Amino acid sequence: MSKPILVSQDTSTMPELASIRQMVTPCYQCGFCTATCPYPLLGHRLNIRKFVRALQLSMLDALEQAWLCSTCKLCESKCPRGVPITDAFVKTRRLLALSKKTPEKLEQVLWNVYENGNSWGVKSTEKLSWAKGLEVKDASKGVKYLLYVGCAVPYDPRLYKVARSLVNVLGAAGLDFGVLGKEEKCCGDPVYHAGELEFFEEIVNENAEKFRRTGAEFVVTISPHCYNTFKNLYPSYGADLNVLHYTQLLEQLLDGGKIHPSRKLDGRVTYHDPCYLARYDNVVEPPRKVLESIPGIEFVEMRDSAQDTLCCGGGGGRMWLESEGGRPSDMRVSQASEVEAGLMVTSCPYCIQNFEDSVRRLRLGKPLQVFDLAELVDRALG
Ligand code: SF4
Ligand code: SF4
Repeated sequence: MSKPILVSQDTSTMPELASIRQMVTPCYQCGFCTATCPYPLLGHRLNIRKFVRALQLSMLDALEQAWLCSTCKLCESKCPRGVPITDAFVKTRRLLALSKKTPEKLEQVLWNVYENGNSWGVKSTEKLSWAKGLEVKDASKGVKYLLYVGCAVPYDPRLYKVARSLVNVLGAAGLDFGVLGKEEKCCGDPVYHAGELEFFEEIVNENAEKFRRTGAEFVVTISPHCYNTFKNLYPSYGADLNVLHYTQLLEQLLDGGKIHPSRKLDGRVTYHDPCYLARYDNVVEPPRKVLESIPGIEFVEMRDSAQDTLCCGGGGGRMWLESEGGRPSDMRVSQASEVEAGLMVTSCPYCIQNFEDSVRRLRLGKPLQVFDLAELVDRALG
């Protein structure tokens, strides 16, 4: 076994290392985190307790494990010492970015954002391809609600349906809303998680100014990742936005009598909480309330629900990185199948992509369809 590298030769990164060490100092190596994280169970080499120990000792050769975590915060939520594990991961990635050790695939994502303002590389001219045939207001003309579509929707035709459904529902509610279309730029989530904080700051400033010019009172996101970025990361860079995840807006519309899901839909339905919504921001009731308002649905909880939800595997930039073991989405789809659900509903583009992929690959006893909540509500409006 080669000897671990204990100290950096690069003195410029010393303050970063010291601050990471300080974050993980309270860890007393109980191992709850390792027992909680789904990745070891799936045969990945990520061992969070050992990783935290390596951070305590500044063992530099272990740091690259930081790219293996999907930043789902499950381990952190169970840590008896309150160690900010995910922030320590992100800080470590920052250190690796400073040392030019960003994985090639994430480098490509950064270039995509830089060149096209879209993490998947969708060009400006294609950013409204999902809305073909729909009348959606140009938000730059002034709106009350700015619907922020995000990078994944224009990239994946499967997700076109999600955005189209949401537009139908918001239209049925008579809401004054619009989109930025070709002017929309990535929220910066993958940039932040790649540790490129200077670039992230530029994105925050550009987006905040663009949003301000629309006069919108609320920014409504489709993705929980955009929601987290606007709500929890932008304020540290001076941009305070009124941001809603669309499930919260649907709940408000339901409570205000603006939408009436009255068409009966049959089926045994379970809901997967996206970790960036449930664990990061406690948004667990709104999607359930909306689901349960749909007549004919038999709702069933699967295990590991609400704040204890499991990650689909797409957070923290992992959507673009190779997996070296089993997929967390397979685990989650199996849990939905365990409760004999025919529909697995969620509210995150990454979850939809990962779960549909798992359903296609796994041999489940009973057919399982993956839907976004907006799609179901749209159907129930008739
Ligand atoms: S759960 Fe917390 S205290 Fe226990 S090993 Fe993990 S980081 Fe350390
Ligand atoms: S994937 Fe989730 S549970 Fe595993 S180490 Fe990362 S934050 Fe913790």
